[in-house]
Amino acid sequence: MSTPMSERDPVTRSQAYFAGAWRDTPASFEVVHPGNLESIGAVADCTPEDARRAIDAAQAALRGWRAVNPYERGQVLRRWHDLMFAHKEQLARLMTLEMGKPISETRGEVHYAASFVEWCAEEASRIVGERVPMRLSHKRGFSNAEPVGVVYAVTPWNFPAGMITRKAAPALAAGCVMILKPAEQSPMTALYLAELWLAAGGPPDTLQVLPTSDPAALSAPMLDDTRVRKLTFTGSTAVGRLLYTQAARTIKRVSLELGGHAPFLVFGDADLERATREIVASKFRNAGQTCISTNRVYVQREVAGELTRLLGEQTGRLTLGDPLLDSTQVGPVVEQAGLDKVRAQVEDALSRGARAVVGGQATGGLYFQPTVLTDVAPDSLILHEETFGPVAPVVVFDTEEEALSLANASEYGLAAYAYTRDLSRAWRVAEALEYGIVGINDGVPSAAAPNVPFGGMKNSGVGREGGHWGLDEYLETKFISLGL
Ligand code: NAD
Repeated sequence: MSTPMSERDPVTRSQAYFAGAWRDTPASFEVVHPGNLESIGAVADCTPEDARRAIDAAQAALRGWRAVNPYERGQVLRRWHDLMFAHKEQLARLMTLEMGKPISETRGEVHYAASFVEWCAEEASRIVGERVPMRLSHKRGFSNAEPVGVVYAVTPWNFPAGMITRKAAPALAAGCVMILKPAEQSPMTALYLAELWLAAGGPPDTLQVLPTSDPAALSAPMLDDTRVRKLTFTGSTAVGRLLYTQAARTIKRVSLELGGHAPFLVFGDADLERATREIVASKFRNAGQTCISTNRVYVQREVAGELTRLLGEQTGRLTLGDPLLDSTQVGPVVEQAGLDKVRAQVEDALSRGARAVVGGQATGGLYFQPTVLTDVAPDSLILHEETFGPVAPVVVFDTEEEALSLANASEYGLAAYAYTRDLSRAWRVAEALEYGIVGINDGVPSAAAPNVPFGGMKNSGVGREGGHWGLDEYLETKFISLGL
């Protein structure tokens, strides 16, 4: 096994990888570090013509890769996993530079991203068919699991490695090949992962990475080409809806992991200290830029004062600052548009009578203080639109019925949380929440693990990632009938 790049600064990879080679393109675009708004380098800017070449190459690579013995496919994945760990510090630093997540969190993300690769490495050899009993005794029936084929993946910047391996690991384990278009903000992490994949023995063109500053143009040939059999997308609901429509023309398999607006319900009998700790963890990690981040806190009237006090106290202790420092707990948001949205939501809530218990201000650059708002009016934007920033609005409720009605009054259905010590209520609430992921006394959900289903209902998406559910998304079921 080769050990590439051990001495090299991880930020220097600028070429795209497609059609069997690392390639420069006539144009390039800059990647900016949100921590200080300085450029960290430029990457290749791929075009629709490059996309067409990538599809040809993927189609050719598919023939070989789907025929590779599943145990061998698993071994390549295993080596990929090991290389991610060998390059953990470079990957973590690169992610922090690209999108501003604190380094302590990006180190954790390397583990998270690699865990999908490890799980799928083992699972590659467990993809099995089924014998189906037939009515006619001279016939034999089988259902066979086969790779879907060429997959087009579009990923966001908020988990630059995790959102890629959650798709690529099951796809590659299943015998599919992938063309990946990473987010404009974090293309270098994607290129680094492709480099490690090749170093692990991944055959040419099984994982191609095409950064671009024009995602709509690059995606058009992918969505129109019948040889691309699947679209897998993680990102906003608006873009997901657009791609879903475009993918319909060629009847592709589609997986969509979209936006969220997680409610966090705290009932009067809850362990308030623990609930507060987990609201803080769920709300402020990645500066609130996580699809399953708590977006609204609903608290029962009798404990509202105490919970708000605890939340204000703990939020006020968070360290906002340079994401490259080990001590930083909350970094900048990713870009100006994100900051503007956070500021607009806070101003809107304040103008409708809300009060900032702590925070409430931008502090220069792309930094916004970790904020808790109380007395938030029901029609405030923050209670309905995804915030993707470090702000926790607190709303008071009286009854369980009211709490559930508030929690479910959303176009989104990704993650929801509830804290209570009443077991019957825990079940009732878990069943009534219209969300794909429910954490009961668990605000830092174990759903972010490779063996459990992750995904949303309603406008939060289609399909699941993780576990056998995630692998099934890359498999076709073929029925084979044999007459004796
Ligand atoms: P985004 O939708 O703006 O971008 C996501 C990806 O889509 C990027 O790669 C972007 O280049 C691409 N894209 C944008 N416009 C496109 C177009 N017209 N055609 C083709 N591709 C296009 O989202 P974002 O800001 O990068 O990510 C944040 C969003 O992602 C949030 O809404 C968040 O909730 C969601 N998200 C969801 C999950 C999940 O698992 N459900 C996980 C992470 C993030």
